[in-house]
Amino acid sequence: MSQPELPALTIAELQGLLRRREVAPREVLESLRAHIEATEPKIDAYLSLDFEAAADEAAKVDVDLPLGGVPIAVKDIINVKGQPCTCGSKILGSYRAPYDATVIRRFRAAGAIPFGKTNMDEFAMGSSTENSSFKVTRNPWDPARVPGGSSGGSAAAVAADAAFGAVGTDTGGSIRQPAALCGVVGVKPSYGRVSRFGLVAFASSLDQVGPLTKTVRDSAMIMIATAGHDPKDSTALNQPVPDYTAGLGRDLRGMKLGLPKEYMIEGIDPQVKAAVDAALKQLESLGAEIVDVSLPHTDYGIAVYYFLATAEASANLARFDGVRYGHRAENPRDLLDHYGRTRGEGFGQEVKRRIILGTYALSSGYYDAYYLRAQKVRELIRQDFAKAFAKVDAIVSPTSPVPAFKLGERTADPLAMYLADIFTNTGNLAGICGISVPCGLAKIDNAQLPIGLQLLGKALDEARIFEIAHAYEQSTEWHKAKPPAPAK
Ligand code: GLN
Repeated sequence: MSQPELPALTIAELQGLLRRREVAPREVLESLRAHIEATEPKIDAYLSLDFEAAADEAAKVDVDLPLGGVPIAVKDIINVKGQPCTCGSKILGSYRAPYDATVIRRFRAAGAIPFGKTNMDEFAMGSSTENSSFKVTRNPWDPARVPGGSSGGSAAAVAADAAFGAVGTDTGGSIRQPAALCGVVGVKPSYGRVSRFGLVAFASSLDQVGPLTKTVRDSAMIMIATAGHDPKDSTALNQPVPDYTAGLGRDLRGMKLGLPKEYMIEGIDPQVKAAVDAALKQLESLGAEIVDVSLPHTDYGIAVYYFLATAEASANLARFDGVRYGHRAENPRDLLDHYGRTRGEGFGQEVKRRIILGTYALSSGYYDAYYLRAQKVRELIRQDFAKAFAKVDAIVSPTSPVPAFKLGERTADPLAMYLADIFTNTGNLAGICGISVPCGLAKIDNAQLPIGLQLLGKALDEARIFEIAHAYEQSTEWHKAKPPAPAK
């Protein structure tokens, strides 16, 4: 195989070549590096790259391991020893990770090679990656549009073949939504399925690390390598990790898929609706039965999510005080001045907005009215899903109500930005798992823009949504669609 073709491979294909010794890990890295040099000026997906460290790993990696020699891109909120970990924030601009996150340790144990950190909304707050303090990542399908967010760098890199696969984090949709907008597969594992140790916390009761890949099989492979119990994270469930690739290829006969009537909202783009309708027909033709279900508290999802996520963020971000790590204001007058200026200079606008909102929601006198109330509605949302899953194997919906929007289009209106998560954040509130798979291409202006189909599964039922998503994916051509080659 000629070098320029290598980056277009899936992880499964690449792993096959590596195992058969048809290509060496070093060659893989070299061709990836050359491809990234061509794509980065157009998409700006990475915040840092370290091919020297990666080459050292490649020289000694065992290619017979499950991901032996496969380079992996990592969202810049996950600690990789010796590498920057900025979280897209000036406050961590000069920070280097002193240790590996558990997912990174597991990747290394499986032979995967981290080589670069991807751009993101600051502290994972956003839906377009425009809240990064460092650069604007562009959607490979149309450079005038956003890649989605907050894991926009990871999604854009995979879509442009500038990564074989990546990991991101999903607190309210930040893996699934950018995956949908860039035309790749993205998985939010069930809460507790993957260790959060070494992930910089945004909202600890919602955060999960998960894969962004070219195919469903590749995501299943990453989940096998990274999921499971971790004594360093008390919320990482002590449950065996199934072989998520075992059920791939099964047909969908007897499978019941729920269509929530509350998801057919106004404001959903007609081309997204048409693509999802066609996907439902396709799933039926594969043997699945589509059943109406109701998730009556869906309307409260955005409000509940933005109270709870900001409340948790306000507590988690208190650690960035300029004392232990990161940016420190110069010549403070006193301690308060030190805190005020360090945080004032280090955090961007959206992060400040959320700290203020979250602090308010938690403050004495308002706690009962906002935080506690939101927790109660969260429980009702969880029960909605439990009732629906008593009738169906998985729930189907669009991932995002709209395809990729234009850069700048929503930056002045935080509420419009928050609506990007309307179909995704209830899944985080309920702790269940979800996947986005490409299901169509919208034509807007002169661009073709990917559309994502979301499948939600019961907690710890990842195997099921992989099965369904794989059957759908393999019966369509959408996953083979590639963005136009960047103009020279
Ligand atoms: N867009 C959501 C937010 O801004 C989701 C972010 C995420 O999942 N990390 O909070």
